Amino acid sequence: GVGSLGSGGVRFELGKETELRFEVETGERAQLELLSGMAEVFGSELNRNKKYTFGPGSKIAVFTWQGCSVSLTGKTEVAYVSRDTPMLLYLNTHAALEQMRQQAERDNERGPRVMVVGPTDVGKSTVCRLLLNYAVRLGRRPTLVELDVGQSGVSVPGTVSALCIERPADVEEGFSVQAPLVYHFGSTTPGTNIKLYNKLTSCLADVFSQRCEVNRRASVGGCIINTCGWVKSSGYQALVHCASAFEVDVVLVLDQERLYNELKRDLPHFVRVVLLPKSGGVVERSKTCRRDTRDEKIREYFYGFRGASFYPHAFDVRFSDVRIYKIGAPSIPDSCLPLGMSQDDTQLKLVPVTPGRDLTHHVLSVSCAEDEGGEGGGTSRRGVLESPVCGFIVVTAVDTQAQVMTVLSPAPRPLPRHTLLIMDIRFIDLK
Ligand code: ADP
Repeated sequence: GVGSLGSGGVRFELGKETELRFEVETGERAQLELLSGMAEVFGSELNRNKKYTFGPGSKIAVFTWQGCSVSLTGKTEVAYVSRDTPMLLYLNTHAALEQMRQQAERDNERGPRVMVVGPTDVGKSTVCRLLLNYAVRLGRRPTLVELDVGQSGVSVPGTVSALCIERPADVEEGFSVQAPLVYHFGSTTPGTNIKLYNKLTSCLADVFSQRCEVNRRASVGGCIINTCGWVKSSGYQALVHCASAFEVDVVLVLDQERLYNELKRDLPHFVRVVLLPKSGGVVERSKTCRRDTRDEKIREYFYGFRGASFYPHAFDVRFSDVRIYKIGAPSIPDSCLPLGMSQDDTQLKLVPVTPGRDLTHHVLSVSCAEDEGGEGGGTSRRGVLESPVCGFIVVTAVDTQAQVMTVLSPAPRPLPRHTLLIMDIRFIDLK
């Protein structure tokens, strides 16, 4: 079912329950148009006769339940139709979750809390997006909990977050992120500070549960939790911790039978652990590809989607006007710890950072924590860890002589708060 179109595009005829998979070349774009029938991209329906543009490196599947024809224009690395997809299994999973929501509605209970797990590149984020889209299309209000600090779909890398889903994801841009709740983690792998990672997971779980108590629709909608691909040792323990913090009802394990068996063994018996196959369409991403995606996510934060919608500001910040911290002191042998102090304390400690040239290009989170009102006054420093983030800035230059740094910020000066948390992550603004 492939034919050439006059305009340089290629026309694909898709039979029912098949998908067109394509990857856009680096530095290129591709345009997709639905010509007849119905189709969806990761659970978001396509409109007919509308041109959708996908940027460099995009890896897309256009799935159709009933059959359709589409045209694809632009430089793609691969473009092929597959009949072999796990979509029916994913749809059945959605149907089971929807039944749980209906039951929750009837019995005045809470809806399903679902954790999606598996190694990297098995389609976890895609399955989350699909399940959220199907739920919101039925009028539900599920919450996306993003715990993948390497490839966050919600905020910049190095953060964990929660987002209430109110409409299906935009085919090109993904879910609209109006008011996410974001916490600073600071690096792209949970392993750099697993204590902090688990603490933030608990924070998100607490906030979500509080919201469920006052918002019936959020409670019935439940949540879909996307996790990191690190599924061994402490990474595995973090999944078990998450399951308990959120009191999850369902765990969807993608592609890994060993992980499935471990979780079945270690989670309480009432948690339903389900093994699902990964889609053959999921593409493994190289280290470079991951880094590019992370960079793009930060660029998007400052400049908007495709760099076209926001105009960030650059201004100087005096060192004396801010307090910069790193979370976690370097770990020291147990025997060297002061009496009564544990390793936990060092991993959750706020360590003041003296601003210097090495701050250049680092991403800093602006903590929502109330500013300390001088010595002994104001909030305790402990509150900073549990406080969400109100925005991010990037240090573009440091002048140690003048004791100021130049920052890139989404909003004009002054900074809304003065407690800044440093990330391991750097961003070089080439614009
Ligand atoms: P994970 O969250 O497990 O790391 P993702 O869900 O991010 O994996 O998927 C990896 C990549 O594969 C993404 O770029 C996604 O767009 C792509 N992808 C997922 N499913 C398909 C599919 N059926 N066909 C083509 N590409 C897909």
